[in-house]
Amino acid sequence: MNISTNFDSGSIRVVNDTDVMNIQLEIAKDNNACTQQWFHFHLQTQANINHKIRIINAGKCTFATGFDDYQVIASYDQETWFRVPTVYLGNELHIEHAPNESGIYYAYFVPYSSARHQQLISSSQMADICNVKSLGFTSHKQSIDLFKIGVDKNGKKKKVWVIARQHPGETMAQWFAEGLIKKLLDNSPMSHTLLESAIFYIVPNMNPDGSILGNHRTNSNGKNLNRQWHEPAQVESTEVFHVQQAMKESGVDLFIDVHGDEEIPYSFMMASGASNSTKESLNSFKNNFEKASPNFQSKYDYDTHKETFGTRCCGSTCTGKSTFSKATDYVEHHHKCLSLLLEMPFKELDDTRGALEFNPHHKFIEMGKAAIVPILAHIKE
Ligand SMILES: [Zn+2]
Repeated sequence: MNISTNFDSGSIRVVNDTDVMNIQLEIAKDNNACTQQWFHFHLQTQANINHKIRIINAGKCTFATGFDDYQVIASYDQETWFRVPTVYLGNELHIEHAPNESGIYYAYFVPYSSARHQQLISSSQMADICNVKSLGFTSHKQSIDLFKIGVDKNGKKKKVWVIARQHPGETMAQWFAEGLIKKLLDNSPMSHTLLESAIFYIVPNMNPDGSILGNHRTNSNGKNLNRQWHEPAQVESTEVFHVQQAMKESGVDLFIDVHGDEEIPYSFMMASGASNSTKESLNSFKNNFEKASPNFQSKYDYDTHKETFGTRCCGSTCTGKSTFSKATDYVEHHHKCLSLLLEMPFKELDDTRGALEFNPHHKFIEMGKAAIVPILAHIKE
């Protein structure tokens, strides 16, 4: 038996791997910060015998309550991913599983690799209306890539900005971004109509360093990028710095910041700002999104879960709002536009929980595609 993490977004600490029925692991901290939640490892072992994997420090992780009713993701071929029976018991996460093959990957959620990101660039740039440019480079010399979709000859179109994966472990955010990009480039009548009135600026991965390192929430310098927007350091949080510069150049008419939530088993949206027109725009956006996507809902969000969920990822009521340290607050304040936070769940949605769901990331690709419906309705408002 051998457990390895020496690959893109690999992360776990082996405590004991001598007994297949008592494999003991620990979730590691982000490379330069105290956050710990993401894991992704490969197990090489004997196929078709039962294994019991104990993640013994789950209860000490940043979003420990996120492990309640949560099921680990696995794959043999890194293409098809499925949930495996998981129990959160006595502050430990227990996985009981007999793999069909001698090699298997386990992860917190379906990884989105750097290789797939490069493929997305290669295929998207083939479209005449898509231009991928590098805004700058991270501390680990990775490119911060901006997908500009649409042509705006006289500068009159609405500027729609979408950023994903400020928190690198929230990989569903990049699956969503991939769906949105592919939809915009599919030559469908609705995409055409939308691109007649709007131009898109999409950053599918805000945090490439954290992604490759297997961090959950921070970049290689230990910075939580969604707390840096009030004053992004040119070196330590250069990802935010470069995106802000590009936003200043283009302007912003609609902004969506895409995340994953560890605790709430639903996709939901919140808006920055408290004016009545913001609330109206948010409600109409949510209604249109709900009609377009079976995986979006408007009943549950951070506010309705206030009692149940003590720890917030990026909700509207988080501290830091007054200083505009979060992307949505910063953009709403500086660009005076509808500024939305989209959260999508690590857990199964309530009504599908219990079933061993295949390819749970596919629903987020579909949500990305469906998002053009509420976006179109909003810019026509
Ligand atoms: Zn987040």
